[in-house]
Amino acid sequence: MIDVTEQKRRVAVIGGGITGLTAAFYLQQQAKNQKLPLEIVLIEASHRLGGKIQTLRKDNFIIERGPDSFLDQEQVIEELAKQLGLEDQLISDVPGKTYVAVNKQLSPIPEGSILGIPTKMISFAKSDIISWSGKVRATCDLLLPPSNVKDQSLGGFLRKRFGEEVVENLIEPVVSGTYSGDIDQLSLHETLPNLAEACLKYRSVIRGIQKGNFHLKEGTLKSTFKTFEHGLESLIYALEKSLEMAILYKGVRVKKISKMQDKVLLLLNNQNSIPVDGVIVATPHQAASKLFEHEELLNGLLDIPANTIATVSMIFSQNAIKKKFDGNGFVVSRNSDYSITACSLIHKKWPHAIPKEYVVLKSYIGRSGDESIVELSDNEIEKVVLQDLHSTLKINEKPITTIVSRFKKAMPQYTIGHRKRVDQAKKALHAAYPTVRLAGNSYEGISLTDCIISGKKAATEVLTSIFQTELYL
Ligand SMILES: Cc1cc2nc3c(=O)[nH]c(=O)nc-3n(C[C@H](O)[C@H](O)[C@H](O)COP(=O)(O)OP(=O)(O)OC[C@H]3O[C@@H](n4cnc5c(N)ncnc54)[C@H](O)[C@@H]3O)c2cc1C
Repeated sequence: MIDVTEQKRRVAVIGGGITGLTAAFYLQQQAKNQKLPLEIVLIEASHRLGGKIQTLRKDNFIIERGPDSFLDQEQVIEELAKQLGLEDQLISDVPGKTYVAVNKQLSPIPEGSILGIPTKMISFAKSDIISWSGKVRATCDLLLPPSNVKDQSLGGFLRKRFGEEVVENLIEPVVSGTYSGDIDQLSLHETLPNLAEACLKYRSVIRGIQKGNFHLKEGTLKSTFKTFEHGLESLIYALEKSLEMAILYKGVRVKKISKMQDKVLLLLNNQNSIPVDGVIVATPHQAASKLFEHEELLNGLLDIPANTIATVSMIFSQNAIKKKFDGNGFVVSRNSDYSITACSLIHKKWPHAIPKEYVVLKSYIGRSGDESIVELSDNEIEKVVLQDLHSTLKINEKPITTIVSRFKKAMPQYTIGHRKRVDQAKKALHAAYPTVRLAGNSYEGISLTDCIISGKKAATEVLTSIFQTELYL
């Protein structure tokens, strides 16, 4: 058994993805600021930190296998970057049009659309993706009484407001591309609560967005995505380097969490055990639910579904795209016959990341309810994706390199009842383990920004629960 330092309190962070690293960083920062006698232990099952953030850097290419950028309306990541001395490395994408593939045709998403929802009615009227009857039906949103805003499926709510055609050909492809989910399963309140608020306040979703009642603003489809000059892993390295107060265990898995007198005991897969005062569980929810000695404690979390997706990055020679195409990428309507769900032209969006003589296309595969494609071999996946790129962008040559990255059960789905499920699990956990907290993309938001907010909040809560009586926080 690893020794416990008598005077110090010890907090363990389980999981070294962006959530766990941020949690450890803010534990350290608060401990320093408030002179708390704290020891931090971060335990990561794999031999590398970063979790889903995986940047490949080779021969002047910077290719992100997983997430490639973030929207940071609340400047959470910018603030963290400043604290880590990384602010000079922040860069924005080159703005450009997003297209949607409907049947065999690629058409630009009407200017001003937010998550596919039209807000500039003239550009919407000119769009060739939607029939005239579909356009008229969509504008009914301006006339209909406010919809019932009780929690319901996002798809059901959107269809009531805008009709079938706009949802299928515009909104669903963008929303599914963003949340990797089935809009008919996702909860309106958990996925896009601002739409319900806009509808209630302004009697119309379109009018609500036009009045600015939507936190994503136009940046969702335009230019406020950011990353770091050398890739997202820069954030991971900088966080790791900053953790001088923490002990890091890589390649060590936590197998069980139990109680030992007034401590929490972590049993590791290397047969060691560590007694700690507090824990932040920053693993995916499937792993978190299996960690506790009382196995049924977090059973409710197993009802949170998670989708499997893969990214397929292909490097081609400079002139490979034969279609005249002025977009930065496209999303795909589920009515079309394509297997890819979205494609980004990385060399246009992030020109700093790709040498001039090449183009790089990052395609996504794996639709909610039809994820078997991700199980194909790399060669088979390459063939399927190439077929789609041939049909959409008229690419006739083989890629110089293909990088397939699979993310199994990696995209938690916030379905109807999600909030209740999470609240119940957290309540049960707090009752059994008052100094243990859950954090990560399974609970209050899936984006990198959400993960950082979640890690920071967990750090404050755990410190408060441990030190409150002595330090009156
Ligand atoms: C393909 C893809 C593209 C995405 N694109 C974007 C994007 O562009 N922008 C955006 O904002 N978000 C994006 N996301 C979402 C975002 O990447 C994730 O929500 C975020 O990275 C999750 O971070 P995390 O730290 O919570 O979890 P993870 O990154 O999954 O980290 C959890 C860690 O816990 C470890 N672990 C698990 N069990 C144990 C155990 N028992 N003991 C010790 N360690 C354990 C794992 O090894 C892992 O390293 C994308 C996600 C995917 C999959």
